[in-house]
Amino acid sequence: MKVIETKAGLKSWVNKRKAEGLTLGFVPTMGFLHEGHLSLIRQAKTENGAVIVSVFVNPAQFGPGEDFDRYPRDLPKDIRLAESAGADAFFAPSPKEMYPSEIGAVIRAGRQAERLCGKSRPGHFDGVLKVVTKLFHLTGADRAYFGQKDAQQLAIIEKFVQDYDFPVTIRRGATVREEDGLAKSSRNIYLSDRERMEAPALYEALKLGREAVLEGRDPVPAVRRHIENNTSGTIDYVEFLSYPELQEKPEGTAVLAVAVQFGKARLIDNLLLHLKENPHASNDAEF
Ligand code: AMP
Repeated sequence: MKVIETKAGLKSWVNKRKAEGLTLGFVPTMGFLHEGHLSLIRQAKTENGAVIVSVFVNPAQFGPGEDFDRYPRDLPKDIRLAESAGADAFFAPSPKEMYPSEIGAVIRAGRQAERLCGKSRPGHFDGVLKVVTKLFHLTGADRAYFGQKDAQQLAIIEKFVQDYDFPVTIRRGATVREEDGLAKSSRNIYLSDRERMEAPALYEALKLGREAVLEGRDPVPAVRRHIENNTSGTIDYVEFLSYPELQEKPEGTAVLAVAVQFGKARLIDNLLLHLKENPHASNDAEF
């Protein structure tokens, strides 16, 4: 696996692979890799001739007072894990390399960013779109891989790519969980022992919400109650919206999504539900 820190280095690696006729899969991450990231890398490896993984903690998607400075980082370990999952190139640029000067035109996420994390984290998805635009251009990827764990991000990027005719296909990866149901996340490391014991309640709550939907009830109260009764965290949101539009009164496919602030960790999780079919038919692995 080739470790690359500069845009020029990446371009030259990409040009060589393209000259060899290989298709390129791309997995963008913020590092501190875990099984969720590795499953995306493995999926990319089965569908492409070569795979590029990026690790870049993107300052543009963090708001003032958020965890940019203390976001967990372990590049040597990330390099080992990415290679073991089958990555061929590992792109880890510095912020200066990615943003050498102030950007002159803005990209602003639209209606899909009005709810959920877009509401709680103003500007977050603008920053995400900024970095993925650059990374899509730099990697020239045929396919890019994103996890359902970040369902709003996935929906926004899929539409962005479609609306602006980016020559890349977005591929979805199922949420990978710990054995007790907690969605894997780099931020889980911020949890205290007690919070770590409470955190599986998010997924339990989502599953109770799914039961409520099946019985024709609004799932939001059941989800809120379970989280309030079983964790010390503060609910940021519990929402039941259409997917991928992320608007009220879902009919076809819906997302049931939660964000909970624990002491240092803000955790998010979600389930996709297919309302016209038996919602039980929906699970994390299905799209
Ligand atoms: P991050 O490093 O948190 O920015 O995540 C990089 C990519 O990995 C994003 O597409 C995430 O949705 C995806 N991802 C993060 N956690 C998981 C997980 N538990 N299961 C599946 N994909 C994940």
